[in-house]
Amino acid sequence: MIKPLQLIRIFVILSILIVPIPKVEAQSSAELPVYIVQTGDTINTIALRFGISPQDLIAANQISNPDLIPVGTPIKIPGYEGITGTLRLTAAPLGANLRTVSRQYKVEEEVIIRLNQLTSPSQIYVGSTLILPEQGQPSELRPLSTLGEGKTPLETAARFLSNPWKLLIYNQKETTARFLSHEVIFSDLPGENGGLFGSPLIKNIEITPLPLRQGKTQIVRVYTTRPLILSGSLNNVALSFFQEEENQYVAIQGIHAMAKPGLASLSLKAQDDDQSVLEFEQPILLEPGYYPQDVPLTVDPSTLDPEITQPEDELIRTITKSATPQRYWNDKFRVPVDEPCIRSWFGSRRSYNNSGYIYFHTGVDYGVCANNLNIYAPAPGRVVYVGELTVRGISTIIDHGWGVYSGFWHQNATKVNVGDFVETGQLIGEIGGTGRATGPHLHWEVWANGVQVEPLDWLEKDYP
Ligand SMILES: [Zn+2]
Repeated sequence: MIKPLQLIRIFVILSILIVPIPKVEAQSSAELPVYIVQTGDTINTIALRFGISPQDLIAANQISNPDLIPVGTPIKIPGYEGITGTLRLTAAPLGANLRTVSRQYKVEEEVIIRLNQLTSPSQIYVGSTLILPEQGQPSELRPLSTLGEGKTPLETAARFLSNPWKLLIYNQKETTARFLSHEVIFSDLPGENGGLFGSPLIKNIEITPLPLRQGKTQIVRVYTTRPLILSGSLNNVALSFFQEEENQYVAIQGIHAMAKPGLASLSLKAQDDDQSVLEFEQPILLEPGYYPQDVPLTVDPSTLDPEITQPEDELIRTITKSATPQRYWNDKFRVPVDEPCIRSWFGSRRSYNNSGYIYFHTGVDYGVCANNLNIYAPAPGRVVYVGELTVRGISTIIDHGWGVYSGFWHQNATKVNVGDFVETGQLIGEIGGTGRATGPHLHWEVWANGVQVEPLDWLEKDYP
């Protein structure tokens, strides 16, 4: 005789057997997010990106030949149950942080953290690649505006003809009191100025090149909707902004050749006459310049004595620090010698008298390989220094305006005086071997807002 309990048991076993097992599997894998294979992807790089093992990836997708996964293949990503949609790679835009990315792409912050294995908010920086799920149609919201001082979301909504409750939903706020002043608000409406940045003051900000690199000249260009006062800093150096055109401003900034690689900070503040303020801070990746080490050099010990080098460095720093409001150049710079035979490159790490590689080469050295020793002005400018220094020898400094300076060291003689205005190609001196030099050569350096940069870039590129 079968007891009721046994009946139940049999029923349970039967029902397990009846349930179609493949369907269960299909359901659970349908819940996994999908990644579309991109050019250059391999099973290993995809596994690495999502922090899973290649074996799990192969098993979840029943891949028979892991060496052959065509671009465009949808791949299920195990370990991310609960996240649905297609995972897309998106470059973090300027102004991005966890909150703005969450709002703009309508993805919960926790999901972004999980998918991108973030351990710190600073891992979202300009140029970082984020993995974001996308459901069906692209659902990206546009930054609409920042909340002005004393403005409520209701007023902002009215101004942009939007529904205030929609704004609350889009921006993941339960009450209007949850908005902070100057927060960027997202909407399905086009922004006031159609700009990327979501501020009524700023249309766009361009930073070139990206990522930042040791020893490079960095251009920060800001397009505005009205005349503004701009200030800010890049990698802890205060920026000097100049007006290029109406509602267009630029800062030319050198990145120190020995700046610490990693995340550098860009901060900007924009202000107009109404005291509307936009303040913003953004981490940006700073990469090493991969400069080689020169052979260790031996020089007269007195030229390394801090009592001599420090006041001399300080003198040069003071001269090259101020930014003249006029811009004197309009073109690429020209080579300052007749035959540009380079003896030593900018940025190489240097060791003097067994110091260890704590120094770097601050300019480019042209050796003597021409029939003459002529030195020419590489661009128009005002001569702001002529003198003889212990380390740099007979030296000349030209101010090209907007914080850009050229320095010419170790000369045999100079042909200009302080206050002279020189034109491109004008004879300014003669190559020599004065000061801390191992032989006759011209050391030419370029300063961009108080920092020495790769001079050869200025021969190739028309800055800003
Ligand atoms: Zn040099």
